[in-house]
Order: sequence, then C-alpha cells, then structure tokens
Amino acid sequence: MTTTEYEALPALAEEPPSTRSGTVVMKFGGTSVADVERLRAVARRLVDAHEAETRVVAVLSAMGDTTDDLVRLAHDISPRPKARELDMLISVGERISGALCAMAIHDLGHEAISLTGSQAGIVTDTAHGRAKIVDIRARRIHEALDAGRIVLVAGFQGVSTDFDITTLGRGGSDLTAVALAAALGAEACEIYTDVDGVHTADPRVVGNARKLHAVSYEEMLELAASGASVLQLRSVEFARNHDVKLHVRSSFSEAGGTWIREEDERMLEKALISGVTHTGEETVYRVEGLSAGRLFETLAVAGINVDTVLQTGTELVFTAPGPERAETQAALEGLGATWSAREDLGQVSIVGAGMRSHPGVAAKVFTKLAELGIEPEIVTTSPIKIACFIPRGQVEPAVRALHDAFELDRPDAVRAHA
Ligand code: ASP
Ligand code: MG
Repeated sequence: MTTTEYEALPALAEEPPSTRSGTVVMKFGGTSVADVERLRAVARRLVDAHEAETRVVAVLSAMGDTTDDLVRLAHDISPRPKARELDMLISVGERISGALCAMAIHDLGHEAISLTGSQAGIVTDTAHGRAKIVDIRARRIHEALDAGRIVLVAGFQGVSTDFDITTLGRGGSDLTAVALAAALGAEACEIYTDVDGVHTADPRVVGNARKLHAVSYEEMLELAASGASVLQLRSVEFARNHDVKLHVRSSFSEAGGTWIREEDERMLEKALISGVTHTGEETVYRVEGLSAGRLFETLAVAGINVDTVLQTGTELVFTAPGPERAETQAALEGLGATWSAREDLGQVSIVGAGMRSHPGVAAKVFTKLAELGIEPEIVTTSPIKIACFIPRGQVEPAVRALHDAFELDRPDAVRAHA
C-alpha cells in the first residue's frame, strides 16, 4: 500500500515562490560526501552552479556511514536511548558535512554559510525520529542568497514546535531538499547520488538494465515503495503534492539522470512498463480471529509500517519490514491473535503508467513466472503495478525474466515499447 498522506506545505507569506526564479536545490547523499576529496568535489560543483548565476541551496547528508555509526553508539551506551537525545545525536552528521563543505567553498573564493535545519527555519511536529515538516520559515535562507552566498542546509532535521531538534526518518535529507525546493519555488530539486538515475531494474541483478529518462510521480512512488531505494518514499509524495520536479543524477559525472515529474502524454503514449523492482526485506503475516480495525490500529500505534494488506474471509494477510519483526510479534501476542509469519518470501513488481490502458500485462507476467516454475503466493495490484510474493531464492531469476519479457533492455524500449 503506497502511503499518500498529505504533508502540508508551509505557507511562505514573506516571499511568494514565483518571484524567485533561478533557484536550484542540490542534494548530495552520504556516498557523495563520504570523504574530504568528495566534499571538495561537491564544493566545486556548487561553485560552478553559483557562477552560472543561480541561487544555490545545497542539502547535504552525513558523511558515509556516519548516521549508522551514531545510532550504534547510542545503543552502545543505552539499550533504549531516549528519542529526544537520539535526535540530538544523529542530527550531528549533517552539520559536519555542511560546515566542512562551506570551508571548502571559501577556499574556492566564494561565500557560503552552513545552517542547521533549525537555523534554516524548518519547523516540524514533535515526533522524534520521524518528524513531519509543518512550516518552513525561509527568511534566513533568502537573506543569505540575496547576499550572494551559497547556502548549505543540514539534511534530515528540523526544530519542533517544542523547540527540540527532530529528525525526519532515515533517508530524510531527500525530504529536506524537496521541501526546501517547494518552499523556495526552486526550478528543480537535483538529487545527486552514487547511481546515475532510476533504472529499469537494479543493475546489480540485471546486467543490461537501462537508465530511464523520465518517470511520473506515480510510477516513482510505486517503484520506491516496492524496492527502488534511490529516493525516500516520503520525499516523492511531497514532490508530487507540491509539484516539485526532481532530477536524480550521479554526483560523479556530468551526465543527466532521471527526471521525476508530472505524467505527460509523451510518457503515456510510449511507456507500457517502466521497470521491474524487487525486495526481500518484508515478512508476510497471516492473522486469524481479529477485526481488521483492531489489528491495524494496534500496529499503527506501535509505529509498525504495514505495507501490503489483504483480507480473505476471516484471514488477514499483511506485510511489514523484517527489522520490525520483534515489535510486530509483540503487538500480535498482545492482541491474543492466532498468527503465523513467513520470512522466506520476496517480492517482484512491475510498474508502468501505460499498464492502465494496455491489457495483457498481467497475463504476460504470470506466463513468464510459470515458465520458471514459479507460482506466486500472493499477488497485489494497483492501476500501475503488479506485485508478486514468491520464494526469495527465485526473486532474482524472476526479475531477469520479466525484464527480458518486456524487452526493457532495448534502447527504444525505454518508454517506447507499447
Ligand atoms: N543521514 C541520514 C540517514 O542516513 C539522512 C540521509 O542521508 O538522508 O538516514
Ligand atoms: Mg538516501
């Protein structure tokens, strides 16, 4: 189930976005800022954009595995770190990146200022570890841009309405970047990462997977929800709700990447299938003897991120992330439910906006899987996705077979194989 929860865009009374053309938000992920050399390269890229007369706002992630290391450190000192203090700790990584990059920019003869989320005016609710942005007070960013500075905002964090530091959930720097792009009326939000765009399948599994030139928000939501990890799901929702054009591209080359934007006719005419995704990280639960309301209410209160949900007769089937297994089990035990869990299933999905208007896609999927001797355990669909739970060991062969069957490796097949 793709969440489509609306994240309100902060009103920006002081500065209507439309008067601010020529602004770009450039976000760099952890690998792109992993060491001093890479931070220097990021500084260079920001300076180049700035020299091209653009108002540059950069959002940086923490260097390499810094966030993981900090989370580990917290758990080393305490089995249950307090959420407020955990946020104080793990928000630090992004500050380090910003300050270092600002120093490198100064050495290139340009003015830059690094800001924490709080200094940048990113106001959130009080839900530590998964805070929602409720307002962006961008005055300080505008002032710095007006003064000719490159502005570096620490990703993944804000300040709560109770004045505490909050974080936006793992991968949250994407959301910082998209929200700032919306608030500043930026022309685009560029997401610089360690891959060169969104592909027809995971290139580590499918050798001849191709980079997609453009996908719609809806397709990207489905791709991100079903295994494509290049963008945080919430950031794609936010981009769609606020019409922010995203450009996912490599920080290690000048080549263009993948645009994520409103669906247009060109996309629809040409594309049948955009990509095949897979994931192996979900556990499939079957529950008897509970009402759906009671079950999902309890899971929601426990903060468990339920994905696929099915009901047949009195049986409820749902999936939840593998790492949340202990919490999920505790919740089910607490309800006194009869339940079972399967860890041996993975999911293969095909996604494409053209599916809406072309029959025969499902038939092709099931025929292909049958040829491999695979019978899906569970199948779920949306108007633009077919997802099959199959034994985990067969996931990769299935991805390759479906990629082949829909001829996604052909250059002219990318958005042109209808
Ligand atoms: N550093 C944070 C994380 O690893 C946020 C981000 O990189 O987007 O989740
Ligand atoms: Mg990320």
